[in-house]
Amino acid sequence: TKNDQPRLRIAIQKSGRLSTESQNLLKAMGLKINMREQRLIAHCENMPVDLLRVRDDDIPGLIMDGVADLGFIGENELEEKELERQRLGEPAEYKLLKRMTFGGCRLSIAATEEFDYQGPHSLEGLRIATSYPELLKRYLDEQGVNFKSVMLNGSVEVAPRAGIADAICDLVSTGATLEANGLKEVQDIFHSKAVLIQAKAALSAEKQALVDRLMVRAQGVMQAKE
Ligand code: ATP
Ligand code: ZN
Repeated sequence: TKNDQPRLRIAIQKSGRLSTESQNLLKAMGLKINMREQRLIAHCENMPVDLLRVRDDDIPGLIMDGVADLGFIGENELEEKELERQRLGEPAEYKLLKRMTFGGCRLSIAATEEFDYQGPHSLEGLRIATSYPELLKRYLDEQGVNFKSVMLNGSVEVAPRAGIADAICDLVSTGATLEANGLKEVQDIFHSKAVLIQAKAALSAEKQALVDRLMVRAQGVMQAKE
């Protein structure tokens, strides 16, 4: 799908941990957007820009397929999708424009409180529940550890108690959710922040000039915050 829309399309998470800060940055960059309506597309009033408001999981693919021009996404989702598409031989390219200061978290392996963790080799042969099978496999392959991943898109932290996995690999910020489920973090495997990415294919000269202007503004906003 070739994107020959005259208006720049920016994909952002519709609602969740990345949406407020993505929207705030766009506003600080000077975009006037009416966010009150719960629509898929929000038109910017003062620039030729449309926002695509979607699930965060969809953003890497929209950029890699060239359907959206720019997108805000967590590195965890971005790298998971990149690895998956590379494995399937699907388009997986994008340009990194900027790493953000928000959306920080880590992807960690957690096990039951009584689990005796001596290092990655302690995980040999275990069933590990996760929404990030590619990132988990990359890490454990590097460590030479065999395991079986149990794919879950939600409720990952209840998998050990439910008897469907021996350990989990999930996003952590405070560890409170793990503790509430009788789990402890044993190994962090990936540190993530939000990033702003651009589709690989060249934009029209007008759209690229707009992106360049927006990036100068983003730089200014982010420096002022430091
Ligand atoms: P969606 O409905 O868009 O699919 P979601 O439930 O998958 O939303 P969120 O929980 O909103 O996603 O998290 C979005 C992103 O925010 C994560 O992929 C990650 O990059 C980042 N993030 C930052 N802190 C955390 C945290 N403590 N737990 C989970 N994600 C976090
Ligand atoms: Zn999601």
